Amino acid sequence: MSNAPLYLEPRLSPRLTSLLDAAPFLHGLVDGLGSPLNLVLPQQFAENVARFGSVLRRHRLGGRVCFAHKASRSSALVRHLATTGAALDSASLGELRHALGSGFTGDRIVVTGPKDPETLWLAARSGAVVNADGVAELEEAARITGAFGLPRLRVILRLSEFETSGTRVLSRRSRFGTAVKSLSDLLDVLERHQDALEPIGVGYHLDTTSLDEKATALEGCLRAMEELQIRGFAPRVVDVGGGFGVNYLTHAEQWDRYTTELTHAVMGRRPPLTWGGHGYGLRAENGTLRGSLGLYPAHRPVAGAAYLDELLSRPAPGLGRPFGTLLLESMYDLYAEPGRALADQCGLTLGRVREVRAGGAGEHLVRLALNAGDVGLEDHGVLMDPVLVPRDEPPGRVGGPVGVYLMGNLCLEADLITRRMVFLPRLPRPGDLLAFANTAGYCMDFTATRAQQQPVARKVAVRQEGAGEGGGAWSWCLDEEYWPVTATGGRRT
Ligand SMILES: *Cc1c(COP(=O)(O)O)cnc(C)c1O
Repeated sequence: MSNAPLYLEPRLSPRLTSLLDAAPFLHGLVDGLGSPLNLVLPQQFAENVARFGSVLRRHRLGGRVCFAHKASRSSALVRHLATTGAALDSASLGELRHALGSGFTGDRIVVTGPKDPETLWLAARSGAVVNADGVAELEEAARITGAFGLPRLRVILRLSEFETSGTRVLSRRSRFGTAVKSLSDLLDVLERHQDALEPIGVGYHLDTTSLDEKATALEGCLRAMEELQIRGFAPRVVDVGGGFGVNYLTHAEQWDRYTTELTHAVMGRRPPLTWGGHGYGLRAENGTLRGSLGLYPAHRPVAGAAYLDELLSRPAPGLGRPFGTLLLESMYDLYAEPGRALADQCGLTLGRVREVRAGGAGEHLVRLALNAGDVGLEDHGVLMDPVLVPRDEPPGRVGGPVGVYLMGNLCLEADLITRRMVFLPRLPRPGDLLAFANTAGYCMDFTATRAQQQPVARKVAVRQEGAGEGGGAWSWCLDEEYWPVTATGGRRT
């Protein structure tokens, strides 16, 4: 069966499915606004917020869902978010200004990441919470707050390098946060600056899919909360960061089969599946498979809000009882900072097919009016098929499944949208669109450039009228023109 197509079909919400079915709408947009084109779906975003909120409710916890802004640059998404109960996690001065200008008041903003004095001033001025990285940042924040006579700045202490039973370091090193073993240094600073800084809690953010690592970190935070109390503070927030993940694929079997066939291809036991024999981290050495697969686990049975639910339902490794119970009994609020997971199913990147050519070994080369920077799936190690949106439905079904390589619009050998051969149900034709689903989180904004003066994708917000099965008509506006209130004073829902 080595020649059977190896599909990696994207997981699509009913809303995204309906959007992809609206081919004339999508073609009209790209005809008018050019290729590449990014679409964002504020309605879906609000639904995702609600899903995280219901996990907090199920565990009877107070707290906040803070969207990690860095996952998307969209104004429509952030402005729409302001109408929900969610908060926002900003990681730069630009993001902080964007949030304030999008309707967020300071009390609904958490400021994380590397911080300049300007960022600290604006955070303190607007009453945001600062997720503090370390001693130096606390000192600087206290100085700025004092110099401008601002109210006490609320801070969360970002911790890292959590340990289990004092021996084995389980959580990986991070360039952010303060090692738990140096917590007392932070508390010394806080004691000295009680008039300027109010520690409201502690937190972590770990860029890992491992629930074990997160459980270790969360337990470390619960112990740190006790340390704060012993020193006379009254903390009430535990921040579990982001990294809840997204399930990108519909079928677990497709993912398993693909990765198995990829190892066979690397070992030379089947025709290549990648451009130039790229192994995504795997290689063959004297007949032995070496290396490890450097890919996002594109099929994830537990991701997003369900992942948070699972973490809260787990017993704390040392304390024995479920985290949700422990947090509830201590009357702590839970902050979560999902980025990718909140943007799940909230975006689509469209690229026009320009040219289709026969390649060397029976496969085809498909050149798109878009490049690898416009759709950063490969950059994030996410392998997922684009959806073919034909310009005109051909009379009858022409051809069958084909393996193609997707080439970008840069004059650069390396500009492949993905180094893997992509199987499509039929050969695309010039004028067709390929739709890359689920790109709102990191994949549409993070790596887009003006290389070679190729256009950066425009972004539009799309909404569907009516709710029912299949839904109603789609409408759109430019991302920067989207406000939660319409020109006639109505509320966009
Ligand atoms: C990036 C980031 C997040 C979001 O991570 P996701 O994996 O997108 O959920 C949350 N918190 C902090 C501090 C971050 O840097």
